[in-house]
Amino acid sequence: MTAGGQRSLHEAAVAQFHHAADLIDLEPRYREILSYPKNEIIVNFPVTLDDGTLKVFTGYRIQHNNILGPFKGGLRFHPDVDLDEVRALAAWMTFKTALVALPFGGAKGGLTIDPADYSEGEMRRVVRRFTHALGSNIGPDHDIPAPDMGTSSQTMDWLMDTYANMSSPGFRQSVKGVVTGKSVAVGGSVGREEATGRGVLYSLRHWCGEKDVRLDELSIAVQGFGNVGSHFAVLAAEAGCVIRGVADHTGTVVNEEGIDVEKLRVWVAEHGGVADFAGADAVDTEELFALDVDVLVPAALENQLTVERAKTFSGRLVIEAANGPTTPDAVDYLLNQGVEIVPDILANAGGVIVSYFEWLQNKSARAWSFDDVDKRLRELVWQAHDKVVHCVRERDCSRRDAAYIVALDRLVDVYNRRGIFP
Ligand code: GLU
Repeated sequence: MTAGGQRSLHEAAVAQFHHAADLIDLEPRYREILSYPKNEIIVNFPVTLDDGTLKVFTGYRIQHNNILGPFKGGLRFHPDVDLDEVRALAAWMTFKTALVALPFGGAKGGLTIDPADYSEGEMRRVVRRFTHALGSNIGPDHDIPAPDMGTSSQTMDWLMDTYANMSSPGFRQSVKGVVTGKSVAVGGSVGREEATGRGVLYSLRHWCGEKDVRLDELSIAVQGFGNVGSHFAVLAAEAGCVIRGVADHTGTVVNEEGIDVEKLRVWVAEHGGVADFAGADAVDTEELFALDVDVLVPAALENQLTVERAKTFSGRLVIEAANGPTTPDAVDYLLNQGVEIVPDILANAGGVIVSYFEWLQNKSARAWSFDDVDKRLRELVWQAHDKVVHCVRERDCSRRDAAYIVALDRLVDVYNRRGIFP
């Protein structure tokens, strides 16, 4: 519990999986194992800043589970990062990779830092020193970081280069897969950059197919216009959806007729946020949740969709593009109101799916075409949704419970076959 008596984010994440575990009478020993991260790595490392002063940074890498394969998950650089958040994010990765049938476990890393406060040279030194501090705790067949909030392909390029330089000369070319989300020139995959947003769109398409609704009949509000929110908004608008509102940390903009999201993206690249965008009206953040839209896509931080905000939402569907964006009481409220929620571990799995494709390409020293990546991404997203929908019908449970049940089935099957060491 936090000082205010509230559940911490990690406790909330554990409660989500326990809820599903209750429905399938999960064996207590598996409930016990999956309630804790396997390894928690905390490193303090010094970096010399441009003005000659020295600052010590604290970085985390939480390795939750690796029964299905190497630990896998992003690295988050954000001023609010703390151990509890990274623990929760690591656990969600275990269930996400299991749900979409990847041969990976779950992990997450983080650094409490606002990258905007540092020069490019300082960030490069921070990333190199963090990588050095993590040392052999990461590796292409052990633990494979990727981008998350506040990190990018540039971060991954520096990380890979540092790791390669720390390896003995004969291995330097074979460690590219130590991270995914690299730039394509450095060994990344085409389609990785927009993969999470594309996976969110495929989630929406699947729901449309289930409900016999056309994509071009839907209006959408998007919270967050970073990598995930902006790519999703552009792809959804291309597919005919009307994007009525977009919010980010600088402000909220709305346009009844639909925002030109391609123009908004250019604006954000130049100005750092959606505030003052000329093609829409500025409103208070709270108004985003009360817009007259069919679909709400939270694509920012955790706990953004509170019960107060949920009470103003009049649409039919929430797609959790962010990790953990809906508070537990908002989830209960929305489900009671008949609003459907496509849970985070399903909705935003597109990123780690294409990370897997990048890792495979690095292992085989091949480069797939965009069509190959996209076709296989769509297949894996579709199969996971089909399984979840089947489970929802069979057990009359929520999509979130169903997603956890599908993931738990895979994890438990492998535990049963391998047994618990010794
Ligand atoms: N950070 C992303 C996530 O939360 C991607 C992780 C990865 O590609 O390993 O799913």
